[in-house]
Amino acid sequence: MTAVLIDGKAFAATLREQVAGGVAQVQKQGLTPGLAVVLVGEDPASQVYVNSKKKACAEAGIASFETLFSSDVTQVGLLSEIARLNADDTVHGILVQLPLPGHIDAQAVINAIDPAKDVDGFHILNAGKLAVGQDGLVPCTPLGTLLLLKHHLGNLAGKHAVIIGRSNIVGKPMAQLLLKESCTVTVCHSKTADLPAEVKRADIVVAAIGQPEFVKADWLKQGATVMDVGINRIMRDGANKLVGDVDFAAAKEVAGAITPVPGGIGPMTIACLLRNTLQAACAIRGVAFPL
Ligand code: NAD
Repeated sequence: MTAVLIDGKAFAATLREQVAGGVAQVQKQGLTPGLAVVLVGEDPASQVYVNSKKKACAEAGIASFETLFSSDVTQVGLLSEIARLNADDTVHGILVQLPLPGHIDAQAVINAIDPAKDVDGFHILNAGKLAVGQDGLVPCTPLGTLLLLKHHLGNLAGKHAVIIGRSNIVGKPMAQLLLKESCTVTVCHSKTADLPAEVKRADIVVAAIGQPEFVKADWLKQGATVMDVGINRIMRDGANKLVGDVDFAAAKEVAGAITPVPGGIGPMTIACLLRNTLQAACAIRGVAFPL
């Protein structure tokens, strides 16, 4: 059996068009959504992410603002920039690019963001709302994974979802979102006793581990839906290559459907950032969310 390829790139492009349409609609009511990105240091990968976010904003009609700090910025310096952005009426979304240097308390910085502008959904208030099933801003990668999953499978109620990874960015919010969809959810992590046996029971597998091609084809139940969140850079045949956390070539022979890397979850993350920025802008200004 060869799995259906879940095309995140195409679905994300549609979502981005919908966001652009929504932005055009709220602009008629005098609202231009604005996203501020704060980047600390010169990590090349972070710079690539920030540039692609800027470009995506421009395409959607969202204003973007950028603050660059050198890696020796102080916690106080960073917090005072967050306070400035919190008070800026043209900014509806604030994103601090992670990771931050070791001398900065990343959680304190995130919790200093106005929760209404927390488009990454990492603020303790938004994490708490998600945990108790209230509406708030939801982290972009799990939100994108959920939208893609629902687009592919429809109703998720009663499905057994196995999530590998328990980070605050992906694994935990993913578990909350799937619980809200009435899935039976198992969260696995580095201390899980028998990971292949857990994965074998899954109708849906979400892999968010950060280890190249870690999930093997013979762990999967025949016909399972596999959402590969991992982004890993490896050298293969003398060339740089991006691979996921799932052994894609073998897994696609067992899975019913699978996301590729690249072109799966990655594009959904940025599309959801735009969606969250529009949602935040509408909520702040009391305008109906058009999506
Ligand atoms: P993380 O390092 O914070 O968490 C990794 C999780 O994997 C941990 O909870 C850990 O318990 C678990 N884990 C590690 N080794 C394991 C093992 N041997 N068995 C079972 N579980 C194990 O990583 P993260 O931020 O959640 O990111 C995970 C992956 O997703 C990375 O590859 C990252 O690059 C990728 N990612 C992609 C996007 C995107 O836009 N597609 C966004 C965020 C993260």
